[in-house]
Amino acid sequence: MMDAKKMLRAFYDRLFEFFGPQKWWPARSRFEIILGAILTQNTSWKNVEKAIKNLRSAGVLDYRGLKELSQRRLASLIKPAGYYNIKAERLKNFINFLSLEYQGNLTKMLKEKTLVLRQSLLKVKGIGKETADSIILYAAGKPVMVIDAYTKRIFSRHRLISPDSSYDHVQELFMDNLPKSPIFYNEFHALIVRLGKEYCVKKPRCDACPIAALKY
Ligand code: SF4
Repeated sequence: MMDAKKMLRAFYDRLFEFFGPQKWWPARSRFEIILGAILTQNTSWKNVEKAIKNLRSAGVLDYRGLKELSQRRLASLIKPAGYYNIKAERLKNFINFLSLEYQGNLTKMLKEKTLVLRQSLLKVKGIGKETADSIILYAAGKPVMVIDAYTKRIFSRHRLISPDSSYDHVQELFMDNLPKSPIFYNEFHALIVRLGKEYCVKKPRCDACPIAALKY
């Protein structure tokens, strides 16, 4: 039987040795991390950067700016991120949530206990588990492992999980077998994304992959 703890640790060590630190999340503020986590749904990070740049140039890259901005204008500014009408609505849903629950005080929101914050975020229309956990890990700095399509693809190919495993099952497996550290989860998720983008693509590049010769 596979030793999940040993395997995950071996993956982490090899990826860190090969790619080095990823310095995530690429953002200038915690507010920007949250916007990025919502905007990155179904699009590349390059497109998110363009959308955030537009928001910055328009001087609305903060709670008040987005609160006062019309949804239509917001949609036009975030157009490069794709699905811009839906994403503008999601950003507005988040801003309304922040306003109603925390009077616009982001620090207060991010200080919530992990489970309370997660449950609250999941009630915001358009914020699913991956987005909520990205906010909790990268903006609040609390220890939750973010699970995404790359994680499922890589670890099902290595038979740790089945391809149709649920988000909760995979997250539990990681968190039960890894140190409960936000720094560790931050780096591991970023390394997994890098591996998934560069090697473990749809047609995997196992011949060149840093994981190929790994023994665990
Ligand atoms: S590319 Fe191949 S060796 Fe690399 S992680 Fe994917 S399945 Fe494993």
